[in-house]
Amino acid sequence: MKNNIYTLLGITLLSVVMGCASHQPKPMKTITIDVGHGGKNIGAKVGDITEKMVLHRIADKINVLSQKDNKQNIKLHFLKFSDKYISLGERAEIINRIKPDLSLSLHIDFMNNAARSGIDVYFSEKNILAKQSEQFAHKMLNCLAVKEMKKGNVYSRNFSVIRKAQVPSIHLAMGFLSNPTDRAYLTSEQGQNKLAEQIYRCLKQI
Ligand SMILES: [Zn+2]
Repeated sequence: MKNNIYTLLGITLLSVVMGCASHQPKPMKTITIDVGHGGKNIGAKVGDITEKMVLHRIADKINVLSQKDNKQNIKLHFLKFSDKYISLGERAEIINRIKPDLSLSLHIDFMNNAARSGIDVYFSEKNILAKQSEQFAHKMLNCLAVKEMKKGNVYSRNFSVIRKAQVPSIHLAMGFLSNPTDRAYLTSEQGQNKLAEQIYRCLKQI
């Protein structure tokens, strides 16, 4: 009889604990945003326009959207080094210390062929979570709705940060600075706002 009472008590306690657990909000996803260039590492350059400058403007807008969001389900950590150079290896080390659910590196492409345009997403086959990284890359590309820019492809490239980060990692290339149409959009207030909104919306979704 005593045993039965203990069993009953155990089951009751278990249901209380499980009941509480089911009402708890989902844990927030943590995402690092690696703003790809900073300090002396300016990235691509066309005239006075640098990749670093455009990336930091878009990252600042993503940060503002995140701060204003009252239905936040993600926590963003920005790796922003506008005035400071930090090596690719150090970037990966910081990401590995934070251990996010996803690491997003922001970049803008450049090619000698000015005709090449559009948004591409990269993952690394050498990342320890390559499969998940590839899935995130496809989700990001399919989620982004920026009709002013061509939808490109998902590619595998062993870029240092996405290869060394020991978490699912993607490298988002928001068009080509070398393409006049992409460049005009990337340097416009409207284009930067749209890209920031789309990236933030997709990060919440994927
Ligand atoms: Zn870059």
